[in-house]
Amino acid sequence: MLSGRVAFITGASRGIGRAIARTLSKAGTDIAGIDLNLDELKSAMKMIEDDTGRKAIAVQADVADPASVAKGVEEAIKVLGRIDILVNNAGITRDNILLRMKDEEWDRVIKINLTGTFNCTKAVIKGMVKNRSGRIISIASVVGAMGNVGQANYAASKAGIIGFTKSIAREYANRGITANAIAPGFIETHMTKALSEEVRDVLIKHIPMGRLGMPEDVAHVVEFLASDEAVYITGQVIHVNGGMYM
Ligand code: NAP
Repeated sequence: MLSGRVAFITGASRGIGRAIARTLSKAGTDIAGIDLNLDELKSAMKMIEDDTGRKAIAVQADVADPASVAKGVEEAIKVLGRIDILVNNAGITRDNILLRMKDEEWDRVIKINLTGTFNCTKAVIKGMVKNRSGRIISIASVVGAMGNVGQANYAASKAGIIGFTKSIAREYANRGITANAIAPGFIETHMTKALSEEVRDVLIKHIPMGRLGMPEDVAHVVEFLASDEAVYITGQVIHVNGGMYM
């Protein structure tokens, strides 16, 4: 379905990012996986290459640092030739109630989740405009739509991604570029492993499907949004949450 395309995926060494890389690779895409931890990233990309036979390169970069992102984009284009699909997936949490939230907890989450999305999108958009085609897919969160206790920083960063996505969608709609966000609910990854059994049980009570989602549940939506079939979808937020928010 995506044969011959190249995807630049941030936070690709584990969790949702790795599932996205694997799913797009299976659909015929060459992958530039971006992450901070090169060892973990290399082994994830190697597993994908072995599994699918497509190219999957590991590019160490910090999405919060525009110079590092520019270098990463340059490296990906040098090896893979172009970037057709950008997946802004790298993200972190630093939870605290507002009364106790430290400035660094606010700043770090905004810098990686929101400014990181800006840095990566800015670094690839010129090439996409030149090619007159592109797909920008950013991973937001259900929390960006409904808020969450202890996550004012995270919710603001994810709501920011939604506003950013809608603006980019409008700016580049007439250049063959679509921009969409996916808002996952709670998904089984390293990020949610930190939750206690008690919090997890309470959470599941609020999910009509009665379980957390799997990384692949998000990855399949990325695959669709990246495909030609999704050409008329832009500026949208697709919720993948087992019904917890409607
Ligand atoms: P994860 O398992 O923690 O993976 C996130 C990846 O991003 C890690 O490999 C991490 O690398 C990388 N990363 C962090 N900071 C980075 C930076 N500055 N530059 C490059 N890479 C960086 O998280 P996940 O659950 O898969 O989440 C992926 C995305 O989905 C995030 O944007 C998250 O907010 C969103 N999301 C997750 C859920 C969920 O329930 N899991 C729900 C809604 C939305 P290091 O480990 O080296 O820091």
